[in-house]
Amino acid sequence: MIADLKFNFYTNLMALILDGKIARDSIAEKLKNTFLGLGVPPQLAIIQIGNRDDSNAYIAQKKKFAEVIGAKVEHITFDESVRKEDVVRRIEELNNNASVHGIIIQLPIPQHLDEYELVEKVSPQKDVDGLTSTNLKLLWSNKQGGFVPATARGIVSLLDYYKLPLAGKRITIVGRSILVGKPAVLMMLNRDATVTVCHSGTCNLEEDTRHADILIVAIGKPKFIGKEHVSSKQIIIDVGINLVSGQSLEEEIEGTQLVGDVDFDAIKDVVSAISPVPGGVGPMTVASLFENVAEAYTMQINS
Ligand code: NAP
Repeated sequence: MIADLKFNFYTNLMALILDGKIARDSIAEKLKNTFLGLGVPPQLAIIQIGNRDDSNAYIAQKKKFAEVIGAKVEHITFDESVRKEDVVRRIEELNNNASVHGIIIQLPIPQHLDEYELVEKVSPQKDVDGLTSTNLKLLWSNKQGGFVPATARGIVSLLDYYKLPLAGKRITIVGRSILVGKPAVLMMLNRDATVTVCHSGTCNLEEDTRHADILIVAIGKPKFIGKEHVSSKQIIIDVGINLVSGQSLEEEIEGTQLVGDVDFDAIKDVVSAISPVPGGVGPMTVASLFENVAEAYTMQINS
């Protein structure tokens, strides 16, 4: 791997592919070994409201990964028209259930419900999506003991796996969502990177993307980032998951019909390293979620 890196940085003939499946499998192996010796397996509760195809596919991935590593998943479903009070009651039951170590609300949820209000009901000790104000505050203040949203953690883990340092690097993040962009900004700052954040109101995007050592893109626009946005020696992390129209999500998740926010083919010979879609950040997100579950488990049994 190190030899590959040298090859790419010094000759720049072709990009190093930051393979999230390989990194995910290494995390899976560690989690599996940790969970083997436990009497009570770690358990994640997933609350799903409605029946979106994309949510169904993401939940299926989480269940599959849990099976591989020996964790349990309780999948709780509510009808699209559920009342807030019924969801809150269920969250409180899960908060008080000692055999449940992590709780997530699969987002997005129907519009009549306020996602911030519901997420805030999850006990911070079980908030493995890292979205409660307690966990966000810990991230803001760069303190240990909280949970970081899984995709942001997955991005950092992927870079760490390939031994790509963050400290002192210029990192541009395109996208400022609460789930991906903003937590990624904070994680990078906490790792001593110099961070530029871009969004739909950014003027001269190319200027901000081209000057970065590491470019992270999370905008939800298929193949939006092209040759004009990048320069040689850059590391590109493509977070986007965009479906080719006419395909079912299930097929897309399982197969190769997804495209990222980056035009992979157009830039792969220009940059130093790039994460593919599928097979880059996606697998890392699932693995990172269960790393959070493992940490929640440890904290709860030790408290
Ligand atoms: P989101 O909530 O829709 O946010 C999109 C962000 O991109 C916003 O901040 C928006 O700016 C910005 N943006 C949109 N168009 C832009 C443009 N032309 N130039 C610059 N910025 C632009 O999306 P998200 O939840 O962060 O997800 C982003 C992508 O990542 C999606 O494809 C999603 O499916 C994918 N995703 C992948 C994973 C994974 O595990 N790989 C996990 C989560 C999400 P404004 O704030 O100005 O509107």
